[in-house]
Amino acid sequence: MRKAGYHFNSDTLSFDKIESSLRKRLWRLFKKFFSSFSLAIVMLYLVYAFIDSPKEKLLKRKYEEVLTQYSLLSNKVEHLDNVLKDMESRDDNIYRVIFETDPIPSSIRRAGSGGVDQYEHLRQIDNADLIIGTAKKIDELSKAIYIQSKSFDKIEELAKNKIDMLASIPAILPVSLKDKNTHQVTSSFGYRMHPIYKTPKFHAGMDFTGTIGTPIYATGNGVVIESKFDKGYGRHVVIDHGFSYKTLYAHMDKILAKKGQKIKRGDVIGYLGNTGLSTGPHLHYEVRKNDKPIDPINFYFNDLTPDEFELLVETANNTGQSMD
Ligand SMILES: [Zn+2]
Repeated sequence: MRKAGYHFNSDTLSFDKIESSLRKRLWRLFKKFFSSFSLAIVMLYLVYAFIDSPKEKLLKRKYEEVLTQYSLLSNKVEHLDNVLKDMESRDDNIYRVIFETDPIPSSIRRAGSGGVDQYEHLRQIDNADLIIGTAKKIDELSKAIYIQSKSFDKIEELAKNKIDMLASIPAILPVSLKDKNTHQVTSSFGYRMHPIYKTPKFHAGMDFTGTIGTPIYATGNGVVIESKFDKGYGRHVVIDHGFSYKTLYAHMDKILAKKGQKIKRGDVIGYLGNTGLSTGPHLHYEVRKNDKPIDPINFYFNDLTPDEFELLVETANNTGQSMD
């Protein structure tokens, strides 16, 4: 109940009750309401500005957590990148060296991720630098991993090829030299006095003496491309080993290998003899690369110890005329 207002009347010396109009009362009411309302707004503003609500506190904490997790994720990506760099370096400097292949240029390995535009939509987000940086790193990593996996495919193929090559190229003696009494190198690769013409002539292989009927071994995997008799080489076999290598086994007494036959290293392809242009029972053995004879002495690495090899080189160097 509102208190009534009074006005002192000096004429009547009494208090007259002030009768206020409805409009005036409403106006007073409105002013009071307005001032209270303004005060409330100011108070609310101060509360919201300086004190967080429990909900806000929770959201802020969650935001901080997300940010921390993102930083951790970014560190993990960085770590993965270092692991991959290590793999790339081993690939370039070890695996590719073993298989005689060029390293992958870094311009290909670490090609850029194609302009900044693709990350533009992330610019609006808070902590855009952190998020763009991580997104960029993950994209680069994905590309580098793809290139690395392709490289390993290539290395695998080269390794398979290398195993095949190691099994194919000549790598053992065509006759067993374990019994020194029956087999010896009597002539090596190079210019030798020809036994029949008595003039220096290029000897394109190595001669191994032995008794007729001694087994002759294929020195690497391959396919027999010649198995026949002619006046010079007598009964002879030529094996194509692939990888541009061929071997010739001449003056055989008897041939076992047939033309077109697949041969494994160590298979007996025939027996030592004295057929064709030959001055005594022996095997004339040639190694050819791109159809050019090369010194067979470098192709016995599978079955000779370093000492045996040295002895063989010494014997080969001291030989005089060839036997064919
Ligand atoms: Zn010879």
